[in-house]
Order: sequence, then structure tokens, then C-alpha cells
Amino acid sequence: METVGEAERAGKTHLDVHCHTCRITKMIPWRLIAVTGDTRMDDLKRRLVCAQCGARPDPDTVTAWAQSDAPGYYRG
Ligand SMILES: [Zn+2]
Repeated sequence: METVGEAERAGKTHLDVHCHTCRITKMIPWRLIAVTGDTRMDDLKRRLVCAQCGARPDPDTVTAWAQSDAPGYYRG
């Protein structure tokens, strides 16, 4: 998955980002970050900044995420 578009076509809906300083993990939907289908995942990972503390996450820990990646989930 080189680009956001490829991640979306693979069913990924969110970016999974962890801040080591704040010890929080956020699942961010694509539409809440300024990306297009052409945005490269590498570039996106490098430009992320934690809104709470200003730290940058380790790019190696940022992954594209889909609900189906969760070990168990609810359906209504
Ligand atoms: Zn933080």
C-alpha cells in the first residue's frame, strides 16, 4: 500500500496512530486528515503531529486500519 488510494481499495478506512508521549492510540478516518487518493503513505506518516503534545509518532508504527483488523467487533 504505497498510497492512501491503494489502502482504501484494500478496505482500509482509518489510520492507526499511537503517541508514545500521551500513550494514546487514535483511529483517524481518512476524511479527517487532509489526504487524497494520491497521497503517499510515507509522506503522510512523516507529516503527522500529535494535536495534544506536538510529538511526531514513529512512522514505523503508523498503519492503515480496517474494522475487520480488530480481533472482535460489534455488528448491529
Ligand atoms: Zn501526544
